[in-house]
Amino acid sequence: MTYDIIIVGGGIQGVATAYELAKRGAGKILLLEKTFLTGGSTGSCAAGIRAQFGSPFNVKLMARSLEIFENMAKELECDNDYLELWQGGYLVLAYSEAEFEGLKRNVEVQHTYGLKTNVLSVEEVKKAFPRVNVEGVYGATYHDRDGHADPFHVTFAYAEAGKRLGVEIREWTPVDTLLTENGKITGVRLQDGSSVYAERVLVCAGAWTTSLLKTVGIDLPLWGEKHEILITEPWERLLGPMVISFSRGYYIQQRPHGSFIMGIPPEDPRHWYRPDEFDFSSSIDFLLRMSSEATNVLPFLKGVNVVRQWAGLYEMTPDHHHAIGPLEDISGLWVAAGGSGHGFMFGPVMAEQLSKWMMGEPMDIDLRPLSPDRFKKGALVIEPAVVG
Ligand SMILES: Cc1cc2nc3c(=O)[nH]c(=O)nc-3n(C[C@H](O)[C@H](O)[C@H](O)COP(=O)(O)OP(=O)(O)OC[C@H]3O[C@@H](n4cnc5c(N)ncnc54)[C@H](O)[C@@H]3O)c2cc1C
Repeated sequence: MTYDIIIVGGGIQGVATAYELAKRGAGKILLLEKTFLTGGSTGSCAAGIRAQFGSPFNVKLMARSLEIFENMAKELECDNDYLELWQGGYLVLAYSEAEFEGLKRNVEVQHTYGLKTNVLSVEEVKKAFPRVNVEGVYGATYHDRDGHADPFHVTFAYAEAGKRLGVEIREWTPVDTLLTENGKITGVRLQDGSSVYAERVLVCAGAWTTSLLKTVGIDLPLWGEKHEILITEPWERLLGPMVISFSRGYYIQQRPHGSFIMGIPPEDPRHWYRPDEFDFSSSIDFLLRMSSEATNVLPFLKGVNVVRQWAGLYEMTPDHHHAIGPLEDISGLWVAAGGSGHGFMFGPVMAEQLSKWMMGEPMDIDLRPLSPDRFKKGALVIEPAVVG
């Protein structure tokens, strides 16, 4: 079978890009997913969405991504409640004077792009968020349009909208090898030995991207990093914003149905260059560190029971930015991966801009600085506001 574009990977990135490409009339699109839609990092994530970044590039992208999330139900023709978009803001706490100064610098960047982020003194935090323990806190920033959504439903809504536009989605269909001829992509070989053909292939395989690119001799510095996360029983609404600290690494949110979801990075992160060997086990170490941090910041959590914990992969790059765009060495081969712990929130805007790029339309936000070849050229793009 021959298609115009084959997309590998059924996480937020692949599915949203399939929809955006179909919307722009990209022709016959096939999306291949080795397990089920959201079966990779998208289905393990906290789905936090924030525009509180520090690099102008990320702020600009996330300002647009917020707009997309805010209009998503209409765009994808689904119910707003289905997407579970909760805009209770992100409260970013600073635990040193230097950290607070850094956050204030980020806010200046955010103001440049029209975001109304507030800088809060400790007194203001206490007044606005009395349940937050401010011991050791020097100040905070708060942006009320930040929040979170349901990563499964957002991805499924894109998939359904894509299918209505003719996108073909095949789950449980692992790609084994990318196929090339004379420096050009020609398609992919599936694990069952059959092949499908296209002049353009977009790899959105998250932490598995590196393994696939290796099949055509491309070495991308992108790896999986194990992160654990937990969810509690549902409680009455006690927490509006996502409470987060970049220096201590934790994030804590309350879902619309009342459960708390929270995570904290490992002290000694393990890197997985071959994610198929990934160890998804949960650790007591994470449970203890997370509970201790969470009940310190939000003491009311002391009586809440944990119901489940799990682990997933951040798909990391050396500068914590995506690798997105065409590969110079193989014509027709594109990649969109490497969200580095923020790939869910960036998914919609990356999909929108990447589809314009692939269709030869002008991008509103120029993604070319994030081209995957930047690593071998040493042209990294630095972001100061990251967890872990
Ligand atoms: C614990 C945790 C918390 C997180 N919290 C947040 C957060 O709050 N906000 C946020 O924005 N991000 C968060 N992230 C990061 C986010 O989950 C990812 O950045 C994002 O989901 C990446 O999406 P993706 O589509 O690029 O990759 P994935 O969701 O990993 O999708 C890639 C897909 O490709 C498939 N695939 C792989 N190899 C093949 C193959 N050979 N053939 C066919 N299919 C293949 C996989 O099965 C997978 O479904 C978190 C991640 C974790 C682990």
